[in-house]
Amino acid sequence: MTIRRLPDTLVSQIAAGEVIERPAAAVKELVENSLDAGARRIDVRLEGGGQRAIVVADDGSGMSPADLLLAVERHATSKLPGDDLVHIATLGFRGEALPSIGAVSRMTIASRPKGAADAWSVEVDAGRVSAPVPAALPVGTRIEVRDLFYPVPARLKFLKQERTEAGHVVDAVRRLAMVADHVAFTVDDAGRNVLNMPVVLGDVADRRLERLGRVLGREFPDNALKIEAERDGVRLTGYIGLPTLHRPSAASQYLFVNGRPVRDRLLLGAVRGAYQDLVARDRHPVLALYLDLPAELVDVNVHPAKAEVRFRDSGLVRGLIVGALRHALAGAGHRAASTVGTAALGVARANLPPPQFTLRAAPSPYRLAEAAAFQAPPPGFAAPAQAGYAVLEAPAARIAEAESDSIASPLGAARAQLHGTYVVAETGDGIVIVDQHAAHERLVFERIKNQLAANGIARQLLLVPEVVELGTLEAERILARVEELGELGLLVEPFGPGAVVVREVPALLGKTDVPALVRDLADDFGTLDAAQSLKDRLSEVCATMACHSSVRAGRQLTGTEMNALLREMEATPHSGQCGHGRPTYVELKLADIERLFGRR
Ligand code: ADP
Ligand code: MG
Repeated sequence: MTIRRLPDTLVSQIAAGEVIERPAAAVKELVENSLDAGARRIDVRLEGGGQRAIVVADDGSGMSPADLLLAVERHATSKLPGDDLVHIATLGFRGEALPSIGAVSRMTIASRPKGAADAWSVEVDAGRVSAPVPAALPVGTRIEVRDLFYPVPARLKFLKQERTEAGHVVDAVRRLAMVADHVAFTVDDAGRNVLNMPVVLGDVADRRLERLGRVLGREFPDNALKIEAERDGVRLTGYIGLPTLHRPSAASQYLFVNGRPVRDRLLLGAVRGAYQDLVARDRHPVLALYLDLPAELVDVNVHPAKAEVRFRDSGLVRGLIVGALRHALAGAGHRAASTVGTAALGVARANLPPPQFTLRAAPSPYRLAEAAAFQAPPPGFAAPAQAGYAVLEAPAARIAEAESDSIASPLGAARAQLHGTYVVAETGDGIVIVDQHAAHERLVFERIKNQLAANGIARQLLLVPEVVELGTLEAERILARVEELGELGLLVEPFGPGAVVVREVPALLGKTDVPALVRDLADDFGTLDAAQSLKDRLSEVCATMACHSSVRAGRQLTGTEMNALLREMEATPHSGQCGHGRPTYVELKLADIERLFGRR
């Protein structure tokens, strides 16, 4: 065995892999540098999803020729003047980004500092730095990165399709734009503008909310609550969406610590805690939260891409977030009213001997999957926020006409619909409570599967085609799957930049909120790999579709409709659980109910 020192170039290339794992990581570092340099306008251009070329141009402070040479040296930075790793006020600080990018690409940096008459540029090719030469440039910096990863072909293999990589770039720039709302951003991909964030006039709060609307959707500003809280020097600001504004993934939860975008588990967990029992477990609220705290209370130097942070007092941070969010949500009026009920039930329960709710698997084929996972109170006893509406707006219950013969059926005879959400049925020896939304979701899924297997999905022509405004990227995600969506019964066409028009929908959805459906699908597709087919993810697509179809929670059903729902469930395989694995119904045996009342 011989131990040898690796050549410097190899060391840099290995180190580069930790910081720069894809084009978006390079763009993030370059844009952060521009922000640190005080830029007011930052333009990003991509070719080949960023792999062939990335250009980042800014109007920041610029660099002298001597600085240019230092900037591409490892561990050279202008940002730690006192060698103080604690009080870090800039986004960068390690002096690693430029040398790392230069080690794995052909990079040209042209720059002209304020007050200088000329610009200079240097080139770095796979780590080899050339002498500065004069260049032409207004004040600021322009960095061009070509052929990213060409010296490390192994890494090229891990890159996804160009469109996917461009999507990650837009995502990274968006995150920074949500903090730096005094800076104008653009991103062009293959000559097309895919992100445009101008600086709007107005006071600071307006500017922030306007920018958030551009990222989180036009409906966000109208459905957002302002957060402003402080405890022991830790400040929390931002906007959070009402519980009713939810998405299928947590991708629309944006968190920032001292101006730095993070995806931190502690913070995400605190958000989940704050919205607990307000949104369904598989839905996620939309929000942007900014945490600002003294540098000595947080360590940002724990993660190579600086995405995670460590707090000195994580309990304080969690408490601040949960408290501030709960307070704001409670202040939103009746929309959060059910939290009170849930809390009260919890208290009442604490004073009782533990009730023995058990889920019974109905006779095949109505088997409840993973019944054991749901020993907790069934859905009917921890009503979601939406039920709060039904209490106020709908008659409390309707008695269904008795259908005596159906009492003998496994799911019994429908007796009432409560809160516009739960169908209560009487069986021979107990009560069945059906979550009509979850049940319908499963039925739609099975019907779509059957129709697909048979002769294709029946479509229903919309009398008035629906134009749906989406972001450029979201529209593209939808349009990339036009053919597949057509097979599933949704006829979509392009409609100018960032918009689509929907002409036909699957007939079995009934009356549908088409724009909301398309937006949710675009969100779903954001988490899909481009190569994954919708049929492979049919249950998720169906769940999203069913969420927007007519028999969702909140709709009043007649007795006949209720009984029809129960009978269809009995006839449909897997109908005991929805597409997300939640039960669609709960059965309480009389014996269980008697135990609850201490009769046994
Ligand atoms: P860091 O940002 O951690 O200091 P980088 O490798 O990203 O390390 O950058 C090295 C140095 O180059 C920075 O400290 C800064 O002085 C200079 N620099 C980089 N990008 C720019 C830019 N766009 N405008 C002005 N100076 C820059
Ligand atoms: Mg940097």
